[in-house]
Amino acid sequence: MNGVANMKEVSSSEHEDYPLKKPLSEDDPEIFEIIKKEKDRQFCGLEMIASENFTSRAVNECLSSCLTNKYSEGMVGQRYYGGNEFIDQVESLCQQRALKAFRLKPEEWGVNVQPYSGSPANFAVYTALVEPHGRIMGLDLPDGGHLTHGFYTATKKVSATSIFFESMPYKINLQTELIDYDKLQETANLFKPKLIVAGVSCYPRHLDYKRFREICDQNGSLLMADMSHVSGLVAAGLTSNPFDYCDVVTTTTHKTLRGPRSGVIFYRKGQKGVDKNGKPIMYDYEDKINQSVFPGLQGGPHNHQIAAIAVAMRQAAEPSFKEYQEQVIKNAQALAAGLDKAGYKIVTGGTDVHLVWVDMRCVKLSGGKAEKILEEVSIACNKNTVPGDKSALNPSGIRVGTPALTTRGMKEDDIGVVVSYMDEAFKIARDVQEKSGPKLLDFKRVLKDEEFQTRVVALKEKVESYARKFPLPGLPDL
Ligand SMILES: *Cc1c(COP(=O)(O)O)cnc(C)c1O
Repeated sequence: MNGVANMKEVSSSEHEDYPLKKPLSEDDPEIFEIIKKEKDRQFCGLEMIASENFTSRAVNECLSSCLTNKYSEGMVGQRYYGGNEFIDQVESLCQQRALKAFRLKPEEWGVNVQPYSGSPANFAVYTALVEPHGRIMGLDLPDGGHLTHGFYTATKKVSATSIFFESMPYKINLQTELIDYDKLQETANLFKPKLIVAGVSCYPRHLDYKRFREICDQNGSLLMADMSHVSGLVAAGLTSNPFDYCDVVTTTTHKTLRGPRSGVIFYRKGQKGVDKNGKPIMYDYEDKINQSVFPGLQGGPHNHQIAAIAVAMRQAAEPSFKEYQEQVIKNAQALAAGLDKAGYKIVTGGTDVHLVWVDMRCVKLSGGKAEKILEEVSIACNKNTVPGDKSALNPSGIRVGTPALTTRGMKEDDIGVVVSYMDEAFKIARDVQEKSGPKLLDFKRVLKDEEFQTRVVALKEKVESYARKFPLPGLPDL
């Protein structure tokens, strides 16, 4: 041990003037300064984009490590390049920890941790298990689904899922504002999809995976959960568990799970059941999915990401992670209750998860204007369609989430303060709109008037000095 430590010291001091050892601040001050500004923006603002979070220092250290240098195409123990002794250790540890984080038995579930992100993970599953132009159903994008679940419009196949496969959306019921499982069943019985995706990017309630399974079983369809948004809550056992019913589960690792930007695919393995003659039927997803990721769609895995996923999965199995996720939900519920009390309409009337879906039509503000005014005062969220919206181009709502604020240590009382800032911002926006009329361009112009700028700047200062009270995790400088 000593020998190794000494060698390291000698080599680093000996080569101090080697130009490629210069810190970023000296090597490329231009990029360094931009990153510093972004760090400052993250520190001074209130991050309420439901899909974002702040990674730990340990996750960041993996991401900036030497693991980024290595090619390791193939699977653990079967690589197309030499020198993968330690990369193999990283990837198998990552797999073991990923299974453990979701309480899965290695005899029943396998996991591929190589997808570069959530979208490639989904496409790899479709490529593996659905034939070209095979049929896929997913929640419609304007109803809270994700692009990769097959979005297309009257004039354009927007998602590659709709170009290379035949996709059919299911939708939200306008009365209940919940997923219309009955209608999904009706459509699936006609469309006979090869695969149904149970997954959401904007939906504040637990999913009914049991119902999805029943619909799949009626039609011989595979069930894939895309738990990207809620995987942290699933790991903590705080929302319905897709692993109870699904064949395949994909997730991003950078949302509630709080790891690096990346994606993983879990698939069932082992015995599925028995045939008519009593012979065992085995799941056959493992090879198909692994080969679809590589060599089908990707080349070398991003090993720095895989190490960072390993760290995040270990963290996700710790008791403190469950406490964190409990607070995420409490904060989201406080956010929903606060906004409701201030007169905003909450889609479905509340939330079970980490996000709140707000319909701004009741205060006559579009989602675009709501997003814009919040951005002006350093609160980040995104505009979002709400049930009943006619156009996806001009959505009537916003999506706000609490994973990032909770990572910084906020509790329900702090969320109360945040609600008061949001309300104040929306009041400014309504006053601006009274003068500007409904067009976003006019709105943006009038917002620059001195009378409004004074109010905006004052509120922004309040927001930023409040945000600075809460620590930001990650690397010290970057
Ligand atoms: C975020 C998200 C994805 C895509 O993830 P990227 O890493 O941005 O490609 C896929 N599915 C769902 C449901 C998501 O919310």
